[in-house]
Amino acid sequence: MIGPFSLGVGTFFGSAIGFSAMTAQDNRVESALLRRINERRLLEAIQQHGPSSRAALTRVSGMTAPTVSKAVDALLKRGLVEELEPIEQSLGRPGRLVRMAADSAVVLGVVIDTSTCCVVASGLDGRVTEERTRRFATPEAYPALLDAIEAECRELLADRTGKLHGVGVSVPGLVNKRLEEVVFCPNLHALDKHNPARDLEERLGSLCLLLQETDGLCLSERMYGDARGLRDFAMLDVATGLGLGVMSSGQLLAGHSGMAGELGHLTADPQGLRCGCGNRGCLETLATDAALVRLVAKKAGRALSTEEVADLLGRGGKKLEEEIRTVSGYLAIAIAAVINIFNPTTLFVHGALLAGAPERFAHVLELVKQRTLTASLADCTIVPTRSSKRQGAIAGIMHHLTNAWAPSIR
Ligand SMILES: [Zn+2]
Repeated sequence: MIGPFSLGVGTFFGSAIGFSAMTAQDNRVESALLRRINERRLLEAIQQHGPSSRAALTRVSGMTAPTVSKAVDALLKRGLVEELEPIEQSLGRPGRLVRMAADSAVVLGVVIDTSTCCVVASGLDGRVTEERTRRFATPEAYPALLDAIEAECRELLADRTGKLHGVGVSVPGLVNKRLEEVVFCPNLHALDKHNPARDLEERLGSLCLLLQETDGLCLSERMYGDARGLRDFAMLDVATGLGLGVMSSGQLLAGHSGMAGELGHLTADPQGLRCGCGNRGCLETLATDAALVRLVAKKAGRALSTEEVADLLGRGGKKLEEEIRTVSGYLAIAIAAVINIFNPTTLFVHGALLAGAPERFAHVLELVKQRTLTASLADCTIVPTRSSKRQGAIAGIMHHLTNAWAPSIR
């Protein structure tokens, strides 16, 4: 547990302004920053522990009771938390529970994907449900895509009474953070050179955040899933494209422009199929659910959806052993590459056909043993992720709302 944050703030100011030379204005800035850092820490404690009394928050945060009380009041004022009706306690006064604002605030998650998009509404507790999710086929043209997203957002907001705090917009492809746009999207070229978050922000008049989909999955797993408390883990998305997100020392690995992690466009078969990026034999044409669907469809002699292939596999997948073996082999190579290069404590795999079926996934893990350095593999647990891209879009905007307020001290 980290104690109340006070003296350590010198690291933020010390390099630029000597403490001895600090003016009254510097002191005011420092104290405002301290308050924000305490509010952020408290918000993280509420996110982690769920609805809690002020006394419980004092215990888990390590802050003093007056500091907790002040921070709770500030968070209530900002509309980020809400208090539940008093509950009877066996001893002493009835206590009120503080929780993330679930009824009085709204965030939206938008997932733009190659064939289907979805929009979901959630409270700040991040709870995602089918009733508050809307799906639609991805329009081919960019303006039509924006129109459809805006319409779904407005309909979802009409059903909710809380204040909209922001929208997370999850996209596939290369998101250049310096240029603030999707520079290239191999499987959905309608997004090339666009920033749907910025365009949506103009239409809705509310904060919208652009988010690479695999980064969203990483944040979701850390905020709501099994990566809570983990500082070094990786997320391999093998659904349509093949995307990689890496959390290294508690930070998302971004590279110079935010485009790190494009393992999917590593050449694995120089004579292979043409990829959406223009190259041949990229790993994502060989190791993904989409690759398996394509092989099964070729065998069946007709176009098939992922759901239809999942259905065929669910009924035993007889006569499809060769296709499953081929894609499993390449998926094992992709998994081994991530483990060898990044040494994660946990590698989460996001996909339906191989990662989502325990027996087939166990077979992939057997193949991984042949491809990975033994010491690196011994350090790592490989599990299917429970996170979804819509949960990722929500986690992305929640992460931003928390981070924009104050820096982390961990
Ligand atoms: Zn490619």
